[in-house]
Amino acid sequence: MKFQAPKGVSEYLPGRSVGFDHVRNTLTAAALSAGYQLAELPVFEDTELFARGVGETTDVVTKEMYTFEDRGGRSITLRPEGTAGVMRAVIEHGLDRGQLPVKLWYTGAFFRAERPQAGRYRQFYQLGVEAIGLNDPEIDAEVIAVADRGLKTLGLKDYRLEITSLGDAPSRLAHRVDLDVFISKMDLDDATRAKAAVNPLRLFDDKREVVKSQMSQAPLLIDYLSEESQLHFSRVTSLLDSYGIEYVRNTSLVRGLDYYTGTTFEFVHEKLGAQSAIGGGGRYDGLMRQLGGADLSGIGFGMGLDRILLACEAEGLELLDPDGLDLFVIALGSEAKFVAAGLVNSLRNDGFNVDMSYGDRALKGAMKAADKSGARFSLVVGEDEVTSGQISIKEMETGESHAMTISTIADFLDSF
Ligand code: AMP
Repeated sequence: MKFQAPKGVSEYLPGRSVGFDHVRNTLTAAALSAGYQLAELPVFEDTELFARGVGETTDVVTKEMYTFEDRGGRSITLRPEGTAGVMRAVIEHGLDRGQLPVKLWYTGAFFRAERPQAGRYRQFYQLGVEAIGLNDPEIDAEVIAVADRGLKTLGLKDYRLEITSLGDAPSRLAHRVDLDVFISKMDLDDATRAKAAVNPLRLFDDKREVVKSQMSQAPLLIDYLSEESQLHFSRVTSLLDSYGIEYVRNTSLVRGLDYYTGTTFEFVHEKLGAQSAIGGGGRYDGLMRQLGGADLSGIGFGMGLDRILLACEAEGLELLDPDGLDLFVIALGSEAKFVAAGLVNSLRNDGFNVDMSYGDRALKGAMKAADKSGARFSLVVGEDEVTSGQISIKEMETGESHAMTISTIADFLDSF
C-alpha cells in the first residue's frame, strides 16, 4: 500500500520549507515589533464555540468544518480560524482582567473542508494577532500596520490593502432596516431568503449572478455609519496616511466570518488569480460577549501563510535562509572521518551550523552533497590534513580558498 497525504492539504518540504519558515518568521517579527505575545492554542475546540463565534450562516460553519465526536461523545471541531479560540482562552483564563488591550499573536494550522485548488487548501497556515479590550482607532491602525510591515519586510509589492467600516451597532441597525426591505422585494429562493433572515450581509458575498445583479442596487452599510463610526474610521484612515500605508476603500467588502464590525480590511495580491486574499481582519465588537465574556471590543487579523509564500514566489523574491549551514565538511577515509566528526561536533557546540559527508563517498559525490547543502563554506579532510593539521576552506560562492590550521576554523567562521 502506498500512502498519500489527505486530499488538499498543504505541506512544505526542503526546497520550499525554508521560504515558508521565512514568511512565518518575518510576520512573527512584525507582531513582536508591536508588543504582541504568543498564545499557543489547541487545534480543536468545542464545536459550539465556532458555531457561535464564526456565525451559524457562514460557509465556514455550514459547509467547511471538520467536526467529529470524540471518544467521550463530545462534539469537537478542528479550528477553521483563530479568533474564536483566542477569545475562549482570554475569557477562560481572565486575561482581560489585567491591563488592556490584551495583545496576542498565534500561528499554526487551520482546517476547512473546501474544494481544493491553487492557494486553497483543507489544511492551511495562518499567523494572526488580536488586540482585545479597547476601541481606539490607534489600535486599528497598529494592527493593519503590523500586517503591512510583515508583507513589506518580505519585499512584497504587488498587493493592495482594501478597507472599509462595517459600523457600530446603531449604524448596522439603521442599515439593516433598509436592507431587509430591499431584500424582501428581491427574487430569491427559500434557502437564500432564510439565510438572509439571519444575516442579510451574506448576500453581498453571494457568487451567483442572479443574486449579484440584484444586490448591486442594495443599500450599502458605509452610507449608514453613525457619526461615531465615521469619526473612528476617518481617524484610522488618517493614521494610515500618516504612516505612509496605501489603501483603497472597498465599500462592498464582506468577509467570510460573521463577527466583524467597524474597521474591516483585506490584503489582496494581484498575481494570485482566484485565491487572491492573502490576509484580512477587522474589529469585532460583540464577539466576546457572545462567547460568554465581558462586553469588550477587539480587533485582529489572520494572514494566510500559504498564499503569502505563493505571492513571494510570484514576485520572484529570494527567500534566504538565515539559519543555513555555515560549513560542510568532506571527509575521505576512515581516520579522516573520525577526526572530521569530532571537528563538526565541536563547531556545532560553538554555535555554528555544520554538516558533513557520511558513507564512503568519493570526492566528486561528496562535493555534490556540499553544493546541495547550501553551506557557505566547505572543506576537505583527508589523511594529509589529519597528519599536518593544515586545511583549506573553500568559499562556495566565489570558489576562493583560505588556508589555515584546523584549530583556527572557529575563529575564521566567526569573522564572517
Ligand atoms: P479568513 O479567516 O477567512 O479571513 O482567512 C484569512 C486568510 O487565510 C485568507 O486571506 C487567506 O490568505 C487564508 N486562507 C483562508 N482559507 C484558506 C484556505 N482554505 N487555504 C489557504 N489559505 C486560506
